[in-house]
Amino acid sequence: MTLDIAIVGGGIAGLSLATALAQTDREVAIFDARDYFGGRICAFSSNEAEQISFDLGPSWVWPEDQPLLAALLRKHDLPTMEQPCEGANLYQASANAAAQRFVDPSIYAGAYRLRDGLDALVSAMLETLPAARHSKHRLLSLQNRDTHIALEFEVNESAPRTVLAKQVALLLPPRLVAQSLQFDPALSPRILRLMRETPTWMAGHAKVVAHYPTAFWREQGLSGNAFCSYPEATLGEIYDASHSAIKSAALAGFFALSAAQRERLRGELEGRVIAQLTHLFGAPAAEPKRVVIKDWARDTLTATPQDWQIPAAHPVYGNRYLRLAHWEDKLYFGGSETAQRFGGYLEGALQSAQTVYRQMQL
Ligand SMILES: Cc1cc2nc3c(=O)[nH]c(=O)nc-3n(C[C@H](O)[C@H](O)[C@H](O)COP(=O)(O)OP(=O)(O)OC[C@H]3O[C@@H](n4cnc5c(N)ncnc54)[C@H](O)[C@@H]3O)c2cc1C
Repeated sequence: MTLDIAIVGGGIAGLSLATALAQTDREVAIFDARDYFGGRICAFSSNEAEQISFDLGPSWVWPEDQPLLAALLRKHDLPTMEQPCEGANLYQASANAAAQRFVDPSIYAGAYRLRDGLDALVSAMLETLPAARHSKHRLLSLQNRDTHIALEFEVNESAPRTVLAKQVALLLPPRLVAQSLQFDPALSPRILRLMRETPTWMAGHAKVVAHYPTAFWREQGLSGNAFCSYPEATLGEIYDASHSAIKSAALAGFFALSAAQRERLRGELEGRVIAQLTHLFGAPAAEPKRVVIKDWARDTLTATPQDWQIPAAHPVYGNRYLRLAHWEDKLYFGGSETAQRFGGYLEGALQSAQTVYRQMQL
């Protein structure tokens, strides 16, 4: 059987395109290499009855500036909360100095989180998605066969599976496309170079969530937000990642250590995180219920070795050559890093899905 459309990449971009295409009479299927859908939207659940989930990938949305995301949250009726900012923030400039308190309620102004974590959005999208879904399908190669494309997937350890589709949309970070997929015939060297030069946003970073029985820092008049700029700092930015229920108290942090440093210190990272949180927030920080680290640089379905070098600023995305159709309008590229605006962000991912949908001239 030949599918009308195969979507590869089950992040928010792929899910959004699949949702739009499922409204048409086309036969659509979505494939992802992971054992879950959502891609960089990734969470862990506390193992308690209430199953509270904490974001290990993106957390923040800016609904006032991001119309597609705002509409999607409204559609699925997902409540948001402002990033908590009440109380004093901390800033530590030197390893030996005490952290300084400063009050700035606007430090995360406009940033909201989903009350139940961003994976609630993925669950809501999956619940209403009629398209066939195939997880644990890693695309290896694509072949142009004139009337259709043959896709070869690795599925667990069994023999590769071939899927035929009249049109294919790859909603993947461009660097991964250039590095990990074989095209027959090959894509032009110019496009491949452009894909390699397009950093995958946040792919070189790592995040940690420390789950606590209570938000003890609030009792000390602290917001839970802290910034550390000294060279030896393990974490550079820490924020209150609690949900509204008190049982879901958590601090989350972005590592200041480079991917190479994290690799060298892998066995020590959790201890260093707890020590830094304890230095900043006091003794109760030494007793988390659980600490989970997600190192995106080690995730080969997001990062390539090139992503270990973190760009100094938010990259300039939006090159229109990344959005061209190929193989006589059978092959399309999308994903947040291809978006004209908001590249790298969730909003960019949604925008890229919209662009591919329009390009398919449905
Ligand atoms: C730590 C971190 C923090 C972030 N914070 C924010 C934030 O606060 N706000 C914000 O707006 N954005 C944030 N982002 C960025 C945001 O996560 C991305 O913009 C968005 O999730 C990208 O969605 P996507 O669908 O384009 O790509 P992805 O989510 O990367 O989806 C691509 C999918 O392709 C799959 N795949 C890869 N290779 C193959 C293959 N060969 N075969 C099959 N499937 C494959 C992957 O498994 C993945 O599921 C953050 C990202 C990270 C990592």
